[in-house]
Amino acid sequence: MSNVQTMGFQTEVKQLLQLMIHSLYSNKEIFLRELVSNASDACDKLRFAALNDSSLLAEDSELRIRVSFDEAAKTITIEDNGIGMSYDEVIANLGTIARSGTKEFFASLTGDQQKDAQLIGQFGVGFYSAFIVANKVEVLTRKAGAALTEAVRWVSEGQGEFSIEVIEKATRGTSITLFVNEDGEKFLNSWALREVLRRYSDHISLPIQMEKEEFNQETGASIKTGEWESVNQANALWARNKTEITDEQYKAFYSHLSHDYNEPLAWSHHRVEGRSEYTQLLYIPKQAPFDLYDREAKRGVKLYVKRVFIMDDAEQLLPSYLRFVRGVIDSSDLPLNVSREILQESRDVKLIRDGAAKRVLSMLEDIAENRSEDYMAFWAEFGQVLKEGLGEDQANQQRIAKLVRFASTHNDQATQTVSLVDYVARMKEGQDKIYYVVADSFANAKSSPHLEIFRQKGIEVLLLSDRVDEWMLTYFREFDGKSLVSVAKGGLDLEKLSNEEEKKQQEEVAQELKPLVERLQVALAERVKEVRVTARLVDSPSCVVVGQNELSPHLLRMLKAAGQ
Ligand code: ADP
Ligand code: MG
Repeated sequence: MSNVQTMGFQTEVKQLLQLMIHSLYSNKEIFLRELVSNASDACDKLRFAALNDSSLLAEDSELRIRVSFDEAAKTITIEDNGIGMSYDEVIANLGTIARSGTKEFFASLTGDQQKDAQLIGQFGVGFYSAFIVANKVEVLTRKAGAALTEAVRWVSEGQGEFSIEVIEKATRGTSITLFVNEDGEKFLNSWALREVLRRYSDHISLPIQMEKEEFNQETGASIKTGEWESVNQANALWARNKTEITDEQYKAFYSHLSHDYNEPLAWSHHRVEGRSEYTQLLYIPKQAPFDLYDREAKRGVKLYVKRVFIMDDAEQLLPSYLRFVRGVIDSSDLPLNVSREILQESRDVKLIRDGAAKRVLSMLEDIAENRSEDYMAFWAEFGQVLKEGLGEDQANQQRIAKLVRFASTHNDQATQTVSLVDYVARMKEGQDKIYYVVADSFANAKSSPHLEIFRQKGIEVLLLSDRVDEWMLTYFREFDGKSLVSVAKGGLDLEKLSNEEEKKQQEEVAQELKPLVERLQVALAERVKEVRVTARLVDSPSCVVVGQNELSPHLLRMLKAAGQ
């Protein structure tokens, strides 16, 4: 009886395959980057697992990736001796997309090929990119530690289904064979494959090997020699000397880490010595990933210890408000068997985290100062996340505050371009506070009646309407020695900004209106604490304000909505 099983792909996989084949037509060579990247991950995982169980490496301990092709059979094969996959893992990994946010991703597709190609780039196409150049893909894999007879063969034509069976395989690891389509034929030669490998995979820290070829001068043909040679430098990019790394290499390494086809906005590569020794290579992306606000989403920094990969997504290495940063941190001090629990308590990790946060803030300061257009683009993508830092990172609060941008009555534009430094520079004679109004939309903030007196006096007010603002303000109370004050709170203390004439007039009006105020006070006794004559309105007859120490109406509404 045959043990071949046929199974259907998850709906999302079918959608992804369709999309990829149609929208990534101009970037076909990325299949090689993705498959080599998976092979390299598989070797990293094995090396890590072997720290606890060296028998997993058995007699085949030189981890490497091999790329070969067969012109006659029209196949390209990418083979590794890494961790391999079990039967169940093959089904899960090569039949579904197990990433958080997958649903949201598909919902965000527009049907416009160019836009979708961008989105798909951010999503990361991974293994399925094999079908860009192949009309059939065969995967043979044996998990490290499994018996020879417990290997798996997976085959698919990238339509709706795949077949899977248990086979015997002599070697550990995974071999992926692409039966190329017309588009893939141009990769059926050594020169083309080497060129793509050099471009995309030079930073990979293991040897990528191809068969050596000899050129026969008489016949003009190349013949394979059966000997393997490395086509990359095979030392970790971040461990190389900065002066030996080109921008192109930094960018290629970024796409490897992030699956993002866009170039990074900036990067910073440093070796830190002293109390804690580590190397950090950190990137700021241009574009937000689709799952930026998903708390479950992977964080971007990978942890290595002395070049050995330890874990992805090491959230202890950067504060959460910098979760958009991608990169690698390689520590010389942490133990190789470090666990997430140890990371949480480690003093070395705390030093690394503080250092990394400072490094990212300096990168941002540099962009803000020298590349203002790029900074505005950064702000539009990640500003809301960075604002969380005002609450989350007290130690760096004032530095972050200088990086934050707001909308304000200075230009009444929804685009957030005003920095607190600009605001302070424009403060009026005698003004010692920074004023803001919070509302649930920019339009409501801009038309708030509380602004009337400020507009009349020419005092700038920050217009806040982002979801995080109210939360942020409970932690962020002061900038540059000036307190932040809501224009919707009582006792605004604007007298200092009025002249004698205005003050006298205000007192007269107050006297005149006293009987009215008393009548209102009685009529509204159940509903308000106090009725007062105010100088804060210009056109509107009245407004509701909250006491100095009370919750704002906006926050009250939010708490109510949350069922509190
Ligand atoms: P990603 O690499 O982002 O996880 P991919 O689509 O590239 O997504 O790969 C899906 C999964 O398939 C990987 O996470 C891994 O578990 C498994 N996989 C792919 N290629 C290999 C390989 N060469 N060896 C072992 N596992 C692999
Ligand atoms: Mg991958």
